[in-house]
Amino acid sequence: MRLTTRLKKSKQMIRLVRPNDLVPHNLIYPIFVREDGRKSEIPSLKKQRYYSLDDCVDVCKEAVDLGIPAVMVFGVLKKKDCDGSVALQKNGFHAKIFKKLKKELGDDLVLISNLCLCDFTEGGICVYSNDGKVLNEKTAEMLGRISVVQAEAGADVIAPAGMVDGQVHHMRCALDNAGFDDVSVMSYIKTDSCLFEPFFHAMSSSKTPRAGVDSSKFRTDIINEKMYMAKVDLDVGEGADFLIVKPALPNLDLIRLTRERYPNIPIAAYQVSGEYAMIKAPCEEGFLKEKPLLMETLYSIKRAGADMILTYYALETAKYLRAEK
Ligand SMILES: [Zn+2]
Repeated sequence: MRLTTRLKKSKQMIRLVRPNDLVPHNLIYPIFVREDGRKSEIPSLKKQRYYSLDDCVDVCKEAVDLGIPAVMVFGVLKKKDCDGSVALQKNGFHAKIFKKLKKELGDDLVLISNLCLCDFTEGGICVYSNDGKVLNEKTAEMLGRISVVQAEAGADVIAPAGMVDGQVHHMRCALDNAGFDDVSVMSYIKTDSCLFEPFFHAMSSSKTPRAGVDSSKFRTDIINEKMYMAKVDLDVGEGADFLIVKPALPNLDLIRLTRERYPNIPIAAYQVSGEYAMIKAPCEEGFLKEKPLLMETLYSIKRAGADMILTYYALETAKYLRAEK
């Protein structure tokens, strides 16, 4: 008789027969770097902190030492402007971050830039709009121009977060024309989730819906997997090198659908700020244990088909995984 208990005979047997595993090099650590240099805990992301231009190198070195190959950089500006043109300054704050990290860490760490207009625009406008209509072309063209500035500064991967149609195409053309054909585009494909809220607070942005058009006009409908996959198809067709499914846990089916449709494209899943909070809060109350809860969520994301996971828990996870070896 075929016994299922045979393959569960010991911990090592269980590990031996795993078709999937999570290892530190599957992790990407998102970091918030503040231009005003303020170092403090992020109120909406407990136990996470802001870094300054001076000390962001230290946490990046720690990530490398733990076997984490990439960080996603979020720059928090002192002063934004109405149309985001501050992003085009060649020696702007984001450029300074990439130059510094590239100089200190070289190719030991992949530098991924989160690119969204709301990082640069007053009121947190993610896309240009007119009378409630998303201006795809104008937004995509601007994202292409900013990509070149960030690539020049040392970003290895640019991750456009605004979800406008044509953005990947514009960025690819702009990067290629400027000689950065070795810089990748990692395209976010987001459902219109409420789980981004703690992140907006962390970026000092106002609550959703933010200025400009409602996010439902550029993100995909939570319940409509066909709308989601249409955006996946579009971005792959435009030349995305990686895809990010975001948020992760409510979208395990979308990770799987994307994996099945594009087996050869690297897929990242973003365990977003609200997911982080959903783990943190009950564990702080003592209702659940943080490590097993975290690992169960990450394993489920991996099992769904993600190659890599962006998580605010990246450092802790890498430590847990090392301790298990
Ligand atoms: Zn945005």
